[in-house]
Amino acid sequence: MFLHKTNFLMRALYPQFVWRKPSDEKKIYLTFDDGPIPEVTEFVLETLEKYQAKATFFCIGDNINKNPGIFRKVIGAGHSVGNHTFNHLRGWATDDVTYFENSVRCKTEIEKFGIETNLFRPPYGRIKRSQARSLLPNHEIIMWDVLSGDFSQNLSPETVLKKTIKHTEAGSIVLFHDSTKANKRMAYALPRFLEHFSSQEFQFSRL
Ligand SMILES: [Zn+2]
Repeated sequence: MFLHKTNFLMRALYPQFVWRKPSDEKKIYLTFDDGPIPEVTEFVLETLEKYQAKATFFCIGDNINKNPGIFRKVIGAGHSVGNHTFNHLRGWATDDVTYFENSVRCKTEIEKFGIETNLFRPPYGRIKRSQARSLLPNHEIIMWDVLSGDFSQNLSPETVLKKTIKHTEAGSIVLFHDSTKANKRMAYALPRFLEHFSSQEFQFSRL
């Protein structure tokens, strides 16, 4: 079970994290976690381009290391990238030193491409307060207010699309995955989501 829309309570518990970017402008912030990987990330890039959409990719350092060419395509297309640790660590199950070192390793991997980023998203959205404290001086910790649920094998692609559209509003940070596990649902929902909000004159911006 999970909530498609993060609720007020969660946001109130962690006000130092970024959950959405409210404004009067019709902007949506799409984010893609867990790439870069062949085919799936490339599909996302092609789909975004059709709608002149910019997005933010929270990359796993190990995937950047294995797929440098795909990572270059992401940055070459003008999207932002963020740190998602090197090995997709689960914060609640990891000691603070290991967690911090693993995030630095991802940052170093990104810097090999001449990119500096202060955006960080904890894998699974789970991070201890002590881990957040060590990152916050140099990072913006980016969460989301709309979870597409594309990773859930219990959801149909149609449900993922419908719920994601329903919960998105101006300033929303929306989470999709460019991962093999999510691909079937993401590949169905993403182009239709972009079509829906483009026709209402929304813009898709990077963080
Ligand atoms: Zn992740």
